[in-house]
Amino acid sequence: MNIIDGKALSLEIKETIRQRIAGLTAEGKRKPCLAMILVGSNPASRSYLRGKGNAAAFTGMDSRLVELPETAGNAELLQEIARLNADDGVDGILVQLPLPSHIDENLVLDAILPSKDVDGFHPINVAGLWMGRPCFVPCTPQGIIHMIESTGQPIEGKRAVVVGRSKIVGRPVSKLLLDRNATVTTAHSRTADLGAVTRDADILVVATGHAGLITADMVKPGAIVIDVGINRTADGRLTGDVDFDSVSQVAGWISPVPGGVGPMTIAYLIKNTLRAYELSAEGR
Ligand code: NAD
Repeated sequence: MNIIDGKALSLEIKETIRQRIAGLTAEGKRKPCLAMILVGSNPASRSYLRGKGNAAAFTGMDSRLVELPETAGNAELLQEIARLNADDGVDGILVQLPLPSHIDENLVLDAILPSKDVDGFHPINVAGLWMGRPCFVPCTPQGIIHMIESTGQPIEGKRAVVVGRSKIVGRPVSKLLLDRNATVTTAHSRTADLGAVTRDADILVVATGHAGLITADMVKPGAIVIDVGINRTADGRLTGDVDFDSVSQVAGWISPVPGGVGPMTIAYLIKNTLRAYELSAEGR
């Protein structure tokens, strides 16, 4: 069994970006800039944003954190987004999810300029992914594909099973696997006999938010297993959706939690922001 080390892979990506930004600076050009909006003070959201800000800093990219109070309404948030949309010094905009329940998430995500939508959640970018047009692709799915490709195994012709059908992970990663000519099954909470489906998978991606859902008897020997889940145990540790101890005895490759998909998601956020910069008038 081989571990897919997301931390090491993410460091390689960030190092390449760091060198690119050092080159821009040497040419006297503006650095790319990522703006992040946080509404309220959810501790998990704050910790994710800290990770994103640190990754930006590592690469030499500028980042801005815009904080709005928990009580902020749709209008305040839309006003902030409009300000960042119009700011030529900002290349990428992300609104940290989840938003407080009184905010209309669709209204907010639709307001971000598609050319600055580095999370890839705007309908124009979602349509681009499904129609095979140039677009910003969500970060976690891109990170997952990079991890699968890092094994050196071809994706084409393989049976891939994605457990989870969310808009941000399950659906887009299913499409990216399809684009690479895997035969893809998307399983979910209503799938009958999940084990029978997952046992067929040469490539198994699990994104459900259920700790330990996938056990060794559900995995084909030698399979590539990517664990997207982030769950907190009673004693405060992070754990995935895959029972690592048993599945690692069967799988050919497996990604750990923490140190797997999480750092890759952040690396691709930074990569998307650099791309937004390069596509902007200034970056060309
Ligand atoms: P979600 O809650 O939006 O969707 C969960 C999906 O899992 C649903 O489609 C549901 O049908 C499926 N599901 C739930 N229970 C199931 C079961 N028992 N059997 C089969 N399918 C089941 O979740 P999400 O936003 O896709 O996130 C999934 C997990 O991945 C969460 O733990 C989340 O924290 C984590 N996540 C991690 C990263 C990262 O960067 N590492 C990024 C996004 C999400």
